[in-house]
Amino acid sequence: IKVSELVDASYQRIHSVDDKVQAFLTLNEEGARAHAKKLDEALEKEETRGLLFGLPAGIKDNIVTKDLRTTCASQLLDNFDPLYDATVINKLAKAESVTVGKLNMDEFAMGSSNENSSYKATRNPWNTDYVPGGSSGGSAAAVASGEVVFSLGSDTGGSIRQPASYCGVVGLKPTYGRVSRYGLVAFASSLDQIGPITRTVEDNALVLGEIAGYSKQDSTSADVPVPDYLSGLNGDVKGLRIAVPKEYLGEGVSEDVKNAVYEALKVLESQGATWEEVSLPHSEYALSAYYLLASSEASANLARFDGVRYGVRAEDTNNLIDMYKRTRSEGFGEEVKRRIMLGTFALSSGYYDAYYKKALKARTLIKEDFDKIWEKYDVIIGPTAPTTAFKVGEKTDDPLTMYANDILTIPVNLAGVPAISIPCGFSEGLPIGLQMIAKPFAENTIYRAAYAYE
Ligand code: GLN
Repeated sequence: IKVSELVDASYQRIHSVDDKVQAFLTLNEEGARAHAKKLDEALEKEETRGLLFGLPAGIKDNIVTKDLRTTCASQLLDNFDPLYDATVINKLAKAESVTVGKLNMDEFAMGSSNENSSYKATRNPWNTDYVPGGSSGGSAAAVASGEVVFSLGSDTGGSIRQPASYCGVVGLKPTYGRVSRYGLVAFASSLDQIGPITRTVEDNALVLGEIAGYSKQDSTSADVPVPDYLSGLNGDVKGLRIAVPKEYLGEGVSEDVKNAVYEALKVLESQGATWEEVSLPHSEYALSAYYLLASSEASANLARFDGVRYGVRAEDTNNLIDMYKRTRSEGFGEEVKRRIMLGTFALSSGYYDAYYKKALKARTLIKEDFDKIWEKYDVIIGPTAPTTAFKVGEKTDDPLTMYANDILTIPVNLAGVPAISIPCGFSEGLPIGLQMIAKPFAENTIYRAAYAYE
């Protein structure tokens, strides 16, 4: 099969289903076809091939792509064509995948349902009355509906894992620092990570191997060698010590989700793993700490969108301050404004100690909960989300119930550890996700366990 045919098949699928799924914001049809042609020529000459050679990929729209519109699903960046490629895009170019387009998301990655996109709401491919999850909803839906072979998402508080869970695909949030954030439009810099969304665990390991690694353009990227993630996939979990936090299977988690998790544990047990119930006692503070810290960082990061440097500028303004105000008032959506206000308030003088500093302390306690687990266990297993996907419109009036959806994914970002979501069954036709968490840089342990279960 030729790369051109593969890319053709991807666009055919997009043109036949994306009217309903609405995963894509921008297509790169001309660019992708030209790229495919080049790869086909290289194939004929039998030049060495990259590991992702010819695979059609979709990219979340907060990862910058040179000359390919990057909006973060915000009106403010409606006309933004970046001047450079993110490090992950350069790495994909080396691995020779083909970027077919940019994927929908919640505006600036703030949200859990894709309904905060200022363009359109992506739908869950399993049932289009339901949300795909968020904020990387487009990335998960595009893979689940067969529009692309893999996609990249970003995860600040669950935005790769929760949509992967809702759409029945595999999504990994790597260890903080594992993948370069250079060229990822920052939401909360101390929490954001880019990661792969795929149909299988093996594909996921393959893509992570290609995008991971140190980059000097990201001062928080880790100078730790990238292992061969594929080599550990042998189906063997004998001796694997699993911890199951009781806080992750408590109130608010649906019966079907709980049962699916216990069934999955049985499968792993039958393969020679052992599991015990544990406690992560500070979990209850994770949600409040996260929304405070993430919003504080967002309020600083989003200050750059002022109508001068990027994107759309309000017209007919009277002076500079008026221009800033109107650009930001007209350009940002409701949820983004809510976070900026919350973050600005939390960081303002007189409140810093009471809110920001306190949230940082809670973050440390949450991280220490995890550190203790690694002394005795290899992986933590629980659900990715308390329920399966919810209906479009169901939570849009109530930001707090929307935030509560992230309760099982957020502690992972606060602790900086890696975690995956893999499919583990269905409830009323909608996929359930199983979350596996490991210590920093132990993505290979996660992949080994996930592969054995899958
Ligand atoms: N849903 C969470 C939020 O709205 C997480 C978002 C994310 O991981 N980018 O902040």
